[in-house]
Amino acid sequence: MRVGGSLRSTPTHRCPPTMSDAANPTLSYITPTATSPWGTYLAQVEAVLPYLGPLSRWIGTLTRPKRALIVDVPIEMDDGRIAHYEGYRVQHSLSRGPGKGGVRFHPDVTLEEVMALAGWMTIKNAAVNLPFGGAKGGVRVDPKALSRKELERLTRRYTSEIGLLIGPQRDIPAPDVNTDAQIMAWMMDTYSANVGATTTGVVTGKPVMLGGSLGRVKATGRGVYFVGRELAKRLDLDLTKARVALQGFGNVGSVTAEMFAAAGAKIVAVQDQYGAVYHPAGLDVARLAAVAKQPGGVTGYQGGEPLAPDEFWTIDCDILIPAALEGQLTAARARGIKARVVIEAANGPTTPEADLILRDRGIVVLPDVIANAGGVTVSYFEWVQDFSSFFWTEDEINQRLDQIMTGAFVQVWDAHLLHRVSLRTAAFIIGCTRVLQARAERGLYP
Ligand code: GLU
Repeated sequence: MRVGGSLRSTPTHRCPPTMSDAANPTLSYITPTATSPWGTYLAQVEAVLPYLGPLSRWIGTLTRPKRALIVDVPIEMDDGRIAHYEGYRVQHSLSRGPGKGGVRFHPDVTLEEVMALAGWMTIKNAAVNLPFGGAKGGVRVDPKALSRKELERLTRRYTSEIGLLIGPQRDIPAPDVNTDAQIMAWMMDTYSANVGATTTGVVTGKPVMLGGSLGRVKATGRGVYFVGRELAKRLDLDLTKARVALQGFGNVGSVTAEMFAAAGAKIVAVQDQYGAVYHPAGLDVARLAAVAKQPGGVTGYQGGEPLAPDEFWTIDCDILIPAALEGQLTAARARGIKARVVIEAANGPTTPEADLILRDRGIVVLPDVIANAGGVTVSYFEWVQDFSSFFWTEDEINQRLDQIMTGAFVQVWDAHLLHRVSLRTAAFIIGCTRVLQARAERGLYP
């Protein structure tokens, strides 16, 4: 069964509100566009409105974040200068539980981006049915330009500044782009020092020695594979013959490649920030992973052909996996894609216009809010293990991850058949409905 443009139906509940209603005025503090992250997120929520029935009166809950904190992060540099960085923590929704979502260190981080990422966390956590709201944080910094000591000072000061919002019952950060287990260890230590008690459950993605969970590092890539496997079954796509191209070869991209290769697929092209490498017979993923960590990234791989940046998007393959940043799959690129399937390992990689082009071309998109939910799912396991101080085996974790991801996929697949909508809209229908149901049942105070 293909998900195509011809399969649109008339929704059963047509509801009057739209995003421009008085209930949803534009926010004064950001200016989203049709392709910017928050603009993309809003368009995705808007597509769900007709399917929400009476819950649509609560839609403003999803079209504005609950709280957005902007902090100054001053640190002393190794040469004695005082540098200031802009940091954020956005709690998009707390309707279903504490805030949950990663922290990103990147020079292009903005409030608007963090808001969208927090919004996607709300939908993702609800679509997979984790008992969390959605949140995200970030610091506008190039961490590669900092020494290890500077990075530690930045992390600790940022953690202290967002201490107003975070806590194991309030909002639980985790790794995201350019943040890892070491940064989570510093965050946990700083929070614990500030509250006067070791509080492992304040962050997830920690080192295993400090209450981290086995299997967390590989969880996102593993989850991408689990749902990719389920999708392939339903599309009669034989993974042992599939050719896969990936954009991004960090933690998520490299583990995703490893999992698909282990299932027999050929990884034919990989692009990172330095360039792209291609081999129609398949790249050696283990060798590529080792090379990718060196300066020059994947371009240092011997035995493949280099690709020009835009050539990557037109490569002949079956499955295309964006695993880098938002907004990469633009309308222009969508027109040239040869893959049958796009699996969004990154958050927000496809612009709304590109999404429509892919739909009209009959290319199936497995959306981020389900495709990359493996990371936060094992974060949930970590949080539960920290509370009970009882730790599970890696096998238990991977099995439960498979169960949750496969179960969530089946619900999204069934909703897409039932409503005759894209998998993205199906995932948003499930996620938004759960959030708004919680909101409506809780009611407003006062
Ligand atoms: N940063 C990951 C994501 O975007 C994981 C978040 C978490 O584990 O809380 O889903």
